[in-house]
This record gives sequence, structure tokens and C-alpha cells, in this order.
Amino acid sequence: IGDSKAYDREVNSVCPYCGVGCQLSFKIKDDKIAWVDGADGPANENRLCVKGRFGFDYIDHDHRLTKPLIRRDGAEKGLNVDPANPLEVFREATWEEALSVAADGLKGRGREVAGFGSAKCSNEEAYLFQKFIRQGFGHNNVDHCTRLCHASSVAALLENVGSGAVTATFNEIENADVAIVIGANPTENHPVAATYFKQFTKRGGTLIVMDPRGQALKRHAKHMLQFRPGADVAMLNAIMHVIVKEGLADQQYIAAMTENWDAQVEHLKGFTPEKMSELCGIDAETLRAVARDFAGAKSGMIFWGMGVSQHIHGTDNSRCLISLALMCGHVGRPGTGLHPLRGQNNVQGASDAGLIPMFLPDYQTVTDDGVRSAFTDVWNSGDFSNEKGLTVTEILEAVHQGEIGAMYILGENPAMSDPDVEHARAALAKLDHLVVQDIFLTETANYADVILPATAWAEKNGTVTNTNRQVQMGRAAVPAPGEAQEDWWITTELAKRCGMEWSYTHPSEVFAEMKQNMKSLDNITWERLEREDAVTYPVHGPDQPGEAVVFSDAFPRAEGRAKFTPASVIPPAETPDADYPYILTTGRQLEHWHTGSMTRRASVLDAVEPEANCSLHPSTLRKLGVAPGGHVRLTTRRGTITIMARQDRAVAPDMVFLPFAYVEAAANILTNNAVDPYGKIPEFKFSACRVEAAEGA
Ligand code: SF4
Repeated sequence: IGDSKAYDREVNSVCPYCGVGCQLSFKIKDDKIAWVDGADGPANENRLCVKGRFGFDYIDHDHRLTKPLIRRDGAEKGLNVDPANPLEVFREATWEEALSVAADGLKGRGREVAGFGSAKCSNEEAYLFQKFIRQGFGHNNVDHCTRLCHASSVAALLENVGSGAVTATFNEIENADVAIVIGANPTENHPVAATYFKQFTKRGGTLIVMDPRGQALKRHAKHMLQFRPGADVAMLNAIMHVIVKEGLADQQYIAAMTENWDAQVEHLKGFTPEKMSELCGIDAETLRAVARDFAGAKSGMIFWGMGVSQHIHGTDNSRCLISLALMCGHVGRPGTGLHPLRGQNNVQGASDAGLIPMFLPDYQTVTDDGVRSAFTDVWNSGDFSNEKGLTVTEILEAVHQGEIGAMYILGENPAMSDPDVEHARAALAKLDHLVVQDIFLTETANYADVILPATAWAEKNGTVTNTNRQVQMGRAAVPAPGEAQEDWWITTELAKRCGMEWSYTHPSEVFAEMKQNMKSLDNITWERLEREDAVTYPVHGPDQPGEAVVFSDAFPRAEGRAKFTPASVIPPAETPDADYPYILTTGRQLEHWHTGSMTRRASVLDAVEPEANCSLHPSTLRKLGVAPGGHVRLTTRRGTITIMARQDRAVAPDMVFLPFAYVEAAANILTNNAVDPYGKIPEFKFSACRVEAAEGA
């Protein structure tokens, strides 16, 4: 933070990183962010983690895009652009020329065009992006990174609870007696939420952590279930079996609030703890103890992360968690609830705003004629397709098949984030027209024909929605560099040049339009957010606080009842064998965020964690003859990378943990693009892998 804490002015906004949505105060000197402090937001109460507090100077990095760029004639597409010197491959252009070239390659091409929007942009920008594709091109081939994080959780929640958002804020753990954290590593990925989890145990709450990898939170847990990767359904069904067998289920709640209980009971009969213990690696007595602790408590919550969702059975995993909460009556009261911890700062909001191929804003299905006409009435435009659109991985496959030839990608980096990424990169290279809108020349922008420079979060106004359903006001704190523009402005200008009659002059106008077809925003206005900074939805009056806990009396499903959907054990898409004997799992680290485009350019964060690394158990390193800090070669059926190996007892001896933020050893060169049939989420958490000592290890 420099030698001094002096500043000229301060601006309150929201952290640009994770879904916790901490409010912060930018302290500004000479129009630069000098330092950052926590602000009193509903999710963080002045707390910040290392990313929120120290990860802000990426916005001043030399690599910032400051002028529109157009690919030079004949310049080959590939990962060949030096972000410090892009002018060998691209030439600078005026906004007018760049927007015209971008639009000329898109307009009139209908289904040949697809779009990836961003969970890093505001709600207004996400809304405009989906409108751009639907209104401008007549179909629903628009998606974003929710497909890669919690699409399966949302699919299960919509199916069984009737709503894709959390049923209770994470802060509600203050009122809980017991909490399960499964497939999540909050101290690294949702650090401020983790502080509430630790406080909960200090006041006597029972914490149960379930994860194939050990983690810091286990020190605070009564039970740490380090189960076998991919065995979630077996373990959870065994726990539910015990609850039924020992008469611990809340029969009154089940009778009043749920359906399909008999089928669930019948299904669970075969999942005895003894039998499932062999599959999940947790002894039967521990499974019984967990069942008794969770079902026996007055109030319980379940939190989950991508360890649950990123499997080909991710939807089944979430179905089990929903059933577990329902059978114990742990939904709809203080201290109870289902909470998938959302990843990006605005992945909840971008999904709410309709940046998904199946749903318009507020999860209203595109297949419903009445729903579509409600939107086209507001948009003053003709109808668009009633077919669900293609998802992230399906769109890139359609590029390979020659069905999609042009893309508009805003703030996403599929050249790093998609599974089997060489296949994804080949698709990007195959496009005849790619428009990329971003703050840096990302790996994806290496394949662009036109690059449109955007503003960073601290340079724009707009609303975001965090994991708690809290809609929050983000405020521009510093001016944008060079000619960079806000994303809503760029999309609007592009839309005009593609023939759409858009005339927005401020994001507040977009927010007002969203409210016309989004009941979730009832009683939330731009002015209220400017005044109050955050409002939780649903909220039942202009002066009312929003609901921290929902579904007390009824669920938004037929007859107001939630549903039990039994889940069977499905093995991972590929299992270890003699050639690939290890299990590779990918994830994030505390200091680095997603594909690293921001955090690797944040000086403090990159200084703490500068080098690509993977984690292996000490016994594995010994077996390989590799010293901690030496290098290993990781190989799957998709490719090979060489990377520094850390010693980590939290990783099981047959596993490798690999962060995905490092382009020089891109984790997704190795991952499998098999997807869950419901959420269409890839199986990032399980690939069969070979590990060898690399030269010089
Ligand atoms: Fe930002 Fe998340 Fe850290 Fe809060 S917990 S400061 S939102 S990264």
C-alpha cells in the first residue's frame, strides 16, 4: 500500500473477485487507487481477504488495452501475441473503425453467431449481452462461465426447490447448530465467508467438512470426511440411509413441504453404510455419526462448491444435498438452508440476468411463447427462437462442426478456462470472425479479429449480485485508461451497428428495463441501491429488508412442495488405469483468481504466488524421486504439461491437485470435456493422469 495511507478521496464499491461480494472502500490519490479498506457490507462487515485488499493494481498494469485493435492482414491465429507488444499482430484502430469491422463480421449471420458473456461484468452488461444475441441474431446460443462452475447445482435446485439461488445467506450460519461444507475450500476460495464459518465453531457450532482434499477448515471441524474423489453420491446416500433407518427424518416437514419421499426411501434401502464405505472410503461409524449430528440438530445448513458441481454426476451430487436438507427439515428457518458458494463476483447476477441458453432473465424459459413475447414487447422487436441454445462446450463443438463461424466474447477466456483446452483453442482459431472485449489481451484475444478495450470493475458503474442474493452497487472510482470504454457502452454501440435500435445512455436505464420482466428486482431501484449500497432479494417493500432465508411456507414449485430426486452412483467419465494411475483434480489458490488475467498482474498477489505449481503427497514425491520444488510431468489422454511440484499432505497419495491460473502450464490442457447431462458442466474434478519426474527434477 505504499509508504503512506494518504488519499484525496474514497469511493465505496464491491470487490471484483469472488461471489462473497465484499464491499470495499477505494482510497484514491491522484486518480489512482492508493489502497483499499473493507466497508460495512452485509456479506463482509468490513472484512476483506488478501485479494480484495491487495489485488487492485492490475488495473494500472502496462498490459491494459487502451485502444481498439484490428488483426493485421495475414497474421496467423494462435497463442503467439506478446501482450506487452501486440502491434506485431494487431494494428490500432479508431472506435468507429473497430466497431464497424466487428459488426460487419457479425450482422446478418443468424445462427452462425454465438456469444460468451461474462460473470465479471455488471448485471446491466450481462442483460444487454444476452439481449444482443437474442434480439440481434434470433436464437439463444449465449452462455457464460456459470456453465463451468455451478450449472449442475442450479439445475438440481431449479428441479427440486424451484429456484436456482441460495435458500439462505451464508451469514445465516450464525443461527445454525450444524453445518456441512462439502466440495469447497472456503479459506482459499471464499475467505471472508470462511471467517464466519470459523466463528460459528467458536460459539459451539458443529462443523462437518467433506472433501477428497484436506484443507485448513478441517482444524475447526468435528468431522473431516476425506472421501474418495467422485464418491459423493455413495457417501451422501449412506448418510441419508442412516437417517431413514434410525427414524431421524423430520416426518412432519416431509409431509407438509415435500413430494416423492416414498421413492427416496425405497431408493436408499440399498445404500448401507457398510456397503458404501468401500466406495467412498469413509468408515461406517463415521457415516452414522455424521447422519446423527446433522439430522439431530435443530438447525443445519449445507454449503457446497465446485468439488460437488464439476462432475458428470454434479447434478446428482446436488440432488443428494437437497434431499439431505429436506429430510431433516433444514430449509426455510433461521439457521437452515442450501447454499452453493458461487464463484465469480457476479455469476449469480449474470445468471439471473439471462446470460444462459435455456433461460431469459429470472430463469424464465425460452420455450414459453408468453415469456418470449413479454421480452420482445419491452424490446420492441420480433420473436426469437423457442429452442434452448447451445452451452459453452457445445458452442465450441459447433464451431468445429462448421455450424458457428463468428463469436462475440466479452470478458471470458475460454482459451484458458475450457476443458481439453487445445480443442477449445482450435475452435477459436477456426472462427472466421472473433470479436473479443476485455481489459487485457487474454489468451482468447490471441485469436481475435477485433479487440475492443473495456473498463475494469473499479472504472465502471453498475450493479452486481453476490452468492447471498444481495444486489449491490458498484461505483467507478478512477478514470479508465486511454480510450477504454464501459462494456454496456461497447455492446450498445455494436448493437446499433448490427441494426438494433438501442439508445441507452447510462446503466440505470438498463436496470429500469430489466425490472420490467424480473420480479426478483421488485422493490429494488437504482436510487435505492445508490442510497443503501445493497438490497437482498426477494424484498417485499421499498422500505423492507430483503429475505435472508426463503421458502418458509412454500417452494416455488407445483403445490408449493420441494421434491426428492433419488440419485444413483455413476462412476467418473474416465477412471485410473495402468497408463494413467493418478486422479487429477483442478481448482484455485488463495492468491490467484481463475485464469489469472487479473491476479497475475496484481503485484502483491503475483509476488506471493509467482510460479505454476501442483500439489502432491510427500509419499508420491518420494516414490517418484522428486524433491519438493522439483518438476514433474503430468500427462492425460489430452496432453502433457511440466510443472513445479509442491509437497502437500492434504492431497491423497493417488491424487494431483493442479491450479488453473497459469498459462505456462495450463491445467485445462489435461482436463476431460465430458459433461453432466443436465447442467452440461465439464468434469474438471476428475481426470486419469500419469505423473513422472521431469528432467532436472
Ligand atoms: Fe473479494 Fe471474495 Fe476476498 Fe471478499 S472474500 S475480499 S469478495 S475475494
